[in-house]
Order: sequence, then structure tokens, then C-alpha cells
Amino acid sequence: MRIILLGPPGAGKGTHASRIEKDFGVVQVSTGDMIRSAIKNKTDMGKKANEYVQAGKLVPDDIVIGIVKERLLQDDVKDSFMLDGFPRTLEQAKALENILEEWGMHLDAVLYFDVNSDEVVRRLSSRRVCENCQATYNLISMPPRQEGVCDHCGGKLIQRTDDRPEVIKQRLETYEEQTRPLVEFYESKGLLHRVVSMGSIEDVAERVKEFLAGLNA
Ligand SMILES: [Zn+2]
Repeated sequence: MRIILLGPPGAGKGTHASRIEKDFGVVQVSTGDMIRSAIKNKTDMGKKANEYVQAGKLVPDDIVIGIVKERLLQDDVKDSFMLDGFPRTLEQAKALENILEEWGMHLDAVLYFDVNSDEVVRRLSSRRVCENCQATYNLISMPPRQEGVCDHCGGKLIQRTDDRPEVIKQRLETYEEQTRPLVEFYESKGLLHRVVSMGSIEDVAERVKEFLAGLNA
């Protein structure tokens, strides 16, 4: 199974990625991890990427694509993978398509975790972080034992600037704008599958499982 996960911040993509990994034995390949490990292992692309990272610059498309290519040649992802955070642009999507084609492979599906913005605002704006040890809480789904106080260290719980409703709305808009071309690209290939990411985590997980089981059949 070769799949891609897409979805705005707060759509629960991370949670479901871990579940898919466990349920279907698919290795999750995330862009951040890939770049870090390429740099650590000093691969050809890793060395190039490191120059940008050291300079505090964004790693350019062709290097990211090179890193993905290096990663996808490794044994653990030979037969199946789940990409997260890549592709991010239409250019990257087309490059991936070419790489897979070259290898005689194809994607099975692109899962888009669809969530309405009010719900994301509700989820993310209830997030709190310990000022001291960075432990995260959620006032709705994972509240601390004592209001405003970290269970682990007694530190003060604060709301990140990023998690304020007006900032969340802005982040969502930016995400949608950037991702729209990708969504349209995969839609036109008949690969896009929207997962309604509303309701409980269990409900959403069930929808994902049913769809992926169908792919495997
Ligand atoms: Zn703490």
C-alpha cells in the first residue's frame, strides 16, 4: 500500500498516521524525519540540505525530492509507505509521480483529512502547554488533573500564540491555499479520498480502516 496523507493542522492526521502504521504495518515517512536523518547520515542530499538548514533557510524542492528518493529506495518502504508532509507543492507531487513511474510503481490513494474550520479552532484553541517541561494538554480531550497546572512538574500551563483562534484561522487559510493545487491534482487522477475528520477519534479511525482495508482487498 502506497499512500499519502494530507490535512490541515488540527485535522488529526498525526494520530491517524500512528494508527494506520500499527493496523496495516505501513511505515510512516515524514518529511521532517527524512531530512533530519539524511543530514545525520550524511547522504549526498543530506549534505546539501544541511547547508540550507545551517543557514536557517528552507530546503529547496529539488533537494527535498532527492531526499525522498533516497529514502524510498530503502528496504523497509519497498512495498509500502505512507508519506506525511510530502508532497507539499504541485511540483513535488509531479516529481513523485515521475519517480514512482520510473520504478514501475504507483500510488494507491491520497487521504485528505477534512475538517471544518470551527472544529479545528475548537480543538487547537483548547491546547495548553507546560511552560516548564513542554508537556501538552487539551482542555477537552486531555485536561490536566488540576486546572492550569502541569501534572508532571507543577509548571504553569499556557496557550501558545499559534493556538489562538485568530492565528489558527490564518494557518488554516494558508494551508488550504497551498494545498488546493495538490488536492485538485490528485482528484483529477482519481486518487483523492476525503476522510471526514469529525466526531470521535474512534469514528474517524473506523472510516480510515474501512477505506484502507478496501484498498488492500
Ligand atoms: Zn510540566
